[in-house]
Amino acid sequence: MRRVVLLGGGYVSVHAYGAMVRRLRGELRRGEVEIVVVSADDAHSFHGFTGEVVAGLLPVGLTRTPLTEAMPKARFIHSTVTRVSLDDRQVTCGDGSVLDYDALVVGTGSREPVARLEGAATLRSPGGLEALVQDAVDGPVAVIGGGLAGVELAAAFAARGATVTLVHSGDRVVPALRAEQPRLAVRCERELDRLGVLVRTGVRAVATTGDGVLLSDGTEVDARVVVATTGQRAVPLPGLDDLPRDPQGRLVTTRELLVAPDVWSGGDAARVLHPRSGTPVTANALWAIKAGDQIGRNVAHALRGRRGRPFRYLGLGQAASFGVGHAVADLYGLPITGWLAWLLRVGFFVRFMPSRSRALQVPGALLRGPGLRPAGRAPVH
Ligand SMILES: Cc1cc2nc3c(=O)[nH]c(=O)nc-3n(C[C@H](O)[C@H](O)[C@H](O)COP(=O)(O)OP(=O)(O)OC[C@H]3O[C@@H](n4cnc5c(N)ncnc54)[C@H](O)[C@@H]3O)c2cc1C
Repeated sequence: MRRVVLLGGGYVSVHAYGAMVRRLRGELRRGEVEIVVVSADDAHSFHGFTGEVVAGLLPVGLTRTPLTEAMPKARFIHSTVTRVSLDDRQVTCGDGSVLDYDALVVGTGSREPVARLEGAATLRSPGGLEALVQDAVDGPVAVIGGGLAGVELAAAFAARGATVTLVHSGDRVVPALRAEQPRLAVRCERELDRLGVLVRTGVRAVATTGDGVLLSDGTEVDARVVVATTGQRAVPLPGLDDLPRDPQGRLVTTRELLVAPDVWSGGDAARVLHPRSGTPVTANALWAIKAGDQIGRNVAHALRGRRGRPFRYLGLGQAASFGVGHAVADLYGLPITGWLAWLLRVGFFVRFMPSRSRALQVPGALLRGPGLRPAGRAPVH
């Protein structure tokens, strides 16, 4: 029996699993191949709807799918990975178990680098989002980082009635979107204005204080909750330290998404090059999903003694929501705003949620939610 070990329970692992199961039905049925998932979290978090959860439009439970449900044919170990030995082809887990592997997929994603901003919350730790939404019920919020994620989050807190300050070190928010779609970037600024978000640009958050956050110009922002969305660093895995990495700590992949013999990676953990432009693809869900699909196909090829195929996905675009009916989307370079952008974004996310039953509940919940009413305090689910 050959064993495929998937590290992490995020987009990469779920999609690699799906692609493998479709190709290895016979092998799995006959017990010739086993898939084992090791994940620190026992559920897949659909981060795309974080804004909707924060705004009180969706219960957090709808965005979390137990891994036993998302990957039913896999054996699941609920533990962190403490070491990978490439020489012995073994993974050691925090619960003491040691797994031999024939194929290994590193899908452990990334974390916000908040070491310098001790006390700031991030949204990725298990239970982090629930805790954050509870804490933010009564008090001002500071969101650090004016990328698409920070802007969307600031808008969501404002939609639930919080006083929100968005702190961004650059001159204008959403710089990456602005470079490609300046009109959409201006629309993001207008949406923040509509929702009453105070935007502080040209300053960095230096430290959290008991009462908020200290900025580089010496001023302080009062905040009960400080959330950092200041970029990402790949989760480090002991044993993989010697593999080539980029400055964000991402594992450098080949065109077939290999990082070492019989070890594949994608999503936030990996630097994957765009097949046409040759530049690194963005760390977001779409690229993680597509890399996961390709990894699953290549693992199936490898188990059958065939060569893997290069990653060929060319991209689709990006989107951000500012409440029901308010969104911006860049679809194949075409700028779209308002209801159409909002519907396209929701439709896309629903299509890629790992749980059909949860996905089907999303449109109704969104349209019934408080977003159609004037901004006000929303219930915590
Ligand atoms: C709040 C938020 C909002 C976002 N919104 C959007 C959006 O609107 N659109 C979009 O496209 N992208 C969005 N993203 C980005 C997107 O979620 C990521 O790019 C995507 O999750 C990457 O997928 P992944 O599989 O690489 O990692 P993840 O989905 O993060 O999965 C990583 C998995 O590894 C596990 N893990 C980590 N370390 C270990 C360890 N040592 N041992 C075992 N398991 C471990 C984690 O528990 C998790 O299960 C958002 C991200 C966040 C945090």
